[in-house]
Amino acid sequence: MVLSDKKVAVGIDIGGTAIKIAVVSTQGLVSKVNILHSGSFNEPYSLLDAVYQESMIFIRKYSRTHDVAGVGVGLPGPLNVFEERIYGMPNMEGWENIAVGFELSQRFGYPVKILNDTDAAGLGEYHYGNAKGNRYFVILSLGTGIGSAVIVNGRVWHGAYGISPEAGHIPISIDGPECGCGAKGHLESFLCAKQVVTRVINDIKAGIPTSIDLEIWESEGFPVKTVFDYAARQDTAALREVNRYAGYLGRGLAAIAALLNPPYVYISGSVANAWDMLASETLRIFGTSCIFPHRSFMKISPSALEGCGGVLGAASLILYYEKDSYILSNLDAGVDSEC
Ligand SMILES: [Zn+2]
Repeated sequence: MVLSDKKVAVGIDIGGTAIKIAVVSTQGLVSKVNILHSGSFNEPYSLLDAVYQESMIFIRKYSRTHDVAGVGVGLPGPLNVFEERIYGMPNMEGWENIAVGFELSQRFGYPVKILNDTDAAGLGEYHYGNAKGNRYFVILSLGTGIGSAVIVNGRVWHGAYGISPEAGHIPISIDGPECGCGAKGHLESFLCAKQVVTRVINDIKAGIPTSIDLEIWESEGFPVKTVFDYAARQDTAALREVNRYAGYLGRGLAAIAALLNPPYVYISGSVANAWDMLASETLRIFGTSCIFPHRSFMKISPSALEGCGGVLGAASLILYYEKDSYILSNLDAGVDSEC
C-alpha cells in the first residue's frame, strides 16, 4: 500500500500524569508534542473535552495543508477495543466503563480508535522505532508501574476475549510485596516506583551511604527515575537499588523468554534511558534464569522514541490499520470466538 505524506492522524497518549497530543504522518511526528497535566481534571468528561479542544488547535492548523484521517488514543488500564470502552484507569477516579471511542468521535466528527497505552507504544516502536522491520517482539514499559505489549506480525496480541497479556503480573516469587492487583510476588510488585523508593529508604535508614535527602524524599516523593539519576552520580544507595532492580528485571525477562521466546524485547518508559546502567546485571540474571537457546537468541534493547512511542503508536492505528485489524484475538472476525 502506498501511503501519502499528506495523510496525517492525531495521536493522543493519555497517562496518569501527562496527556500527550501530536500530529503524526507515516514519516513520524509532524507537529510538536503538546502536553496537558492529567491531574488538572477530576472526572473523565472534562479531560476528554480538554483533549478535544487541544487537538482541534492542531487539526485546524494542519487540515489546511494535510489530509487529517482520524484520531488514535492510547489509554492506561484494561479496555475493550471492539466496544471502544475502558474498564477503568489506575490512579484516576470515575473512568469505569467509559465509552471513550464513542465520546471522542462525537466530539471530533473524525474516526477515533483506542488502544491500551503500552500496546500503542508497541505499535509506535514497530512503525517508527528500533523495532522497525521486526514483526515479532515484546515491549516492556518500565516507570511508575509496568506495562507490556506482545506484537505478532505487526499486530497486538490480545488473547482470550480481547484481554491483553500483562507481563507486570508475571509471578516471579511465591512471596514478596503486594502488587497493585492484590496478589504477591508479581514482577510489577518488585519493579513499581513505590517499592523502589521503599527499598532505598530502608537501605538509607539501615546506614547505606547516600547523598539523597531522605526528609525531602519522604515528604514529597520522587519518581523512580530519580533513583537512576542518583545512581548515575555513583550514589551508593541508589547503585545498590539499581543492581537489585536489574535482578528482578532479569527474572521477568527470563519468564517472558520461557513462554514466548520472542526474538526481541524492547524496554520503554522512563527507565529506558537508564538501560546502560541496568544492562550488565539484567543480562547476567537473565542468563542464569533461562535455558541456553533463549539466553542466546532473545535480544534486549531500549526504545529510542524518548516518550513519543505512545502518540506515534496511537496515530498508527489510523494511518496503518483498517478498522480494528491491529488486534489479534479470538474475537477477530474470521477467528473462532469460542475458547
Ligand atoms: Zn499483579
